[in-house]
Amino acid sequence: MSGNTPDYTRRKFLAASAAGLASAGLAGFSPGLVRAQQITEASDEPKKDIIFRQLGSSKLEVPVVSMGAGNCTDPGLIQASFELGVRHFETAANYQFGANEQLVGGVINKMGVRDQVFITTKIYTPAQRRDFDAKQARNKLTNLVDGSLKRLRTDYIDILLIHDVSNREAVNNQAVMEAMAAIKEQQKARVIGLSVHANVAEVIDEVARVGTWEAVQASYNFTMADDTALSDAITKAGKKGVRLIGMKTLAGGGRWPNPETRQSYNSTTIARAAIKWVLHNPYVATVVPAFNNYEHMQEDFAVARDLEYAPEELNFLSDNSIQLGMGFCRQCRTCLASCPRGVDIPTLMRTHMYAAQYTNFYLARATLDEIPSQNSLPACSHCETCVADCAHSVDIARRIDELKVIYT
Ligand code: SF4
Repeated sequence: MSGNTPDYTRRKFLAASAAGLASAGLAGFSPGLVRAQQITEASDEPKKDIIFRQLGSSKLEVPVVSMGAGNCTDPGLIQASFELGVRHFETAANYQFGANEQLVGGVINKMGVRDQVFITTKIYTPAQRRDFDAKQARNKLTNLVDGSLKRLRTDYIDILLIHDVSNREAVNNQAVMEAMAAIKEQQKARVIGLSVHANVAEVIDEVARVGTWEAVQASYNFTMADDTALSDAITKAGKKGVRLIGMKTLAGGGRWPNPETRQSYNSTTIARAAIKWVLHNPYVATVVPAFNNYEHMQEDFAVARDLEYAPEELNFLSDNSIQLGMGFCRQCRTCLASCPRGVDIPTLMRTHMYAAQYTNFYLARATLDEIPSQNSLPACSHCETCVADCAHSVDIARRIDELKVIYT
């Protein structure tokens, strides 16, 4: 391995960061820098130290707020995030068909700060896992990680995750575990883990039992506060040293799609309350909000310096009518059994979230393409049998209608 993989302690990290900030502005991405400075100067909030947490049993320490880069197409935003204090960038091999890894890796490389940041990427999607035997899986994983390394312009990935694992069997896949362990042994990855959208509690519980995986990136937000199986699983895994990387922390992105809610609470209150709620769980190492503009970057990263709730944030979190009005699909998969045509409703709901709330049509298309065609959009006859079976007020029929307009 030609690149170095330094010992990332908080002290060394902060010292290195100071040097990096001095040099990073010379890298030639001035639009991001200027925009971030304008907003910073307008803020009168007192600056506190950035809060770091250890990522599981590894020595990696990360700021509690990271950048989910998947929606980003602006190199200036990545540079501005670094300058603000972000030190962990999260992407995936299939985001923007590889272009997102190229973007993240390109900016970090051009700024010359690879030894000051952490990169998480995700490989081996459910579609790629379909129909592979053990040998094919090992070859596939090796090819995939090599592709990510090339696009990211690095020779190691800090946190390498298997993408979208949704059941106990997938957590326990021996061929995948052995291949990932070999990748780590070759020092192409420093920490290995999984990402999970569906059956989150089950997957995390199994991660705690198996002991191979060091990190889990999972959907986790305040609308899931009543899910005791999930909080128990997070605690169980946490006590074994596995820390969570929280995603979907804003319960679907889009800074709140509900106009009535926007009248009661401003977007800063909503975003900060939602992120703080996740980080109040001590077993969450960091969150990866997918901000894609400078204002949201500032709003989200401010939480990394202050986890105390403001009064209006507590009001928001205790407002039951707001939580019910949100309609966040928890990917619990309860509705699957009710569909007479076997439509993969949870994955369609996730596709809708990416299209309508994130406005990330690349990711929406990639998610839709993971469903075998016989279970996808055209199979839905609009009988609405599933609607009554959803315990979380998700407007399934409307969302499928909207997807049909876009994709069929
Ligand atoms: S639509 Fe409702 S029942 Fe179906 S996965 Fe989402 S939250 Fe669960």
